Amino acid sequence: MQICTACGTRALSASAPCARCGGLSVVTAPETSAGWIGIRATFTCRGCGHRAPLDHLDIDGSVDCPYCGLSQRFEAVLWRPVLAALHALADLGASAEGRHPHAQISIASSNPHWPPKTPLISVEERHKGEDGVNQVLRAEASLGHPTCPRGHGPLRIEGGRETLCSCSACDFRARYPKAPDFFSPLSAILSNEGRTDLAPAKTVQHEGILSLTCPSCGAPLPATEGSRIVECSFCHLVSRLPGDTGKGKARSMPAPQLWWLAFSGPSLRRKELEKGPERDARSLEEAPLRKDTDPVGQGLKWAPILLFPSIALLLTGLVCLALWRTGMLG
Ligand SMILES: [Zn+2]
Ligand SMILES: [Zn+2]
Ligand SMILES: [Zn+2]
Ligand SMILES: [Zn+2]
Repeated sequence: MQICTACGTRALSASAPCARCGGLSVVTAPETSAGWIGIRATFTCRGCGHRAPLDHLDIDGSVDCPYCGLSQRFEAVLWRPVLAALHALADLGASAEGRHPHAQISIASSNPHWPPKTPLISVEERHKGEDGVNQVLRAEASLGHPTCPRGHGPLRIEGGRETLCSCSACDFRARYPKAPDFFSPLSAILSNEGRTDLAPAKTVQHEGILSLTCPSCGAPLPATEGSRIVECSFCHLVSRLPGDTGKGKARSMPAPQLWWLAFSGPSLRRKELEKGPERDARSLEEAPLRKDTDPVGQGLKWAPILLFPSIALLLTGLVCLALWRTGMLG
């Protein structure tokens, strides 16, 4: 699979600009056992009505709007159908039979993600909370592979109890915690908010003015719009802002960040396609063209097995008859 060197989003054509970032350079993504999905997600704030970024898998039941500062109810249940849709994309989006092909059943003719029409898909989920207010989660997702934030292409990813990412061209390293047990096919989450290796930014007071500096090189950190993560423009170290810095202080709504989810194993959508009525109708229509579902071919394969006991029975009968007659003559 070809991906954008800058943001890691799948590239359907090497000549067209990246659908996500407009980047023009593409690179081949490494083969991985899990399917990686890059997403940008938002929720609709019930305070200001704007679409606010959801830059990680927030399942604790509430979210904060970085623009108006309102802390509000956001139920984890909204994530489930979205994660199921992303798992389906991770499983089915890479080829006609997808990432986990069934030995006998082909889904090529009913695969909704093949051939891919666009690198990005949109998923939206609405849920009426107990208080009667609609909660809305929107995500724009693509297949791809996480890349170095400094533009060096695909990251090396090591799984295990934690997920470790590193770039072969620079000293970028990042560490992320194990994915929560919330959705079992989800094997890893890479989001800036979740990083466990970030040092806190230093707070410096100079002539009564509080400013933030890089914990590595001491350079002043740029002002952030609502984000709790900031990158030093000198040494590129990413640090975490202390406490509530940046919460509800943005002058404009910050854009959602790109973060990554890895999914393992066959998706529910695949299982539906494998046994769905759609497939049954199709496989009958296409029977003469497809070896794997050809009822005639299967019938022939089974025939000798069914025939064998009958022949064996007949032979036994004949031998018995012969023996009996020999006995009679003798
Ligand atoms: Zn891109
Ligand atoms: Zn708001
Ligand atoms: Zn790099
Ligand atoms: Zn620095």
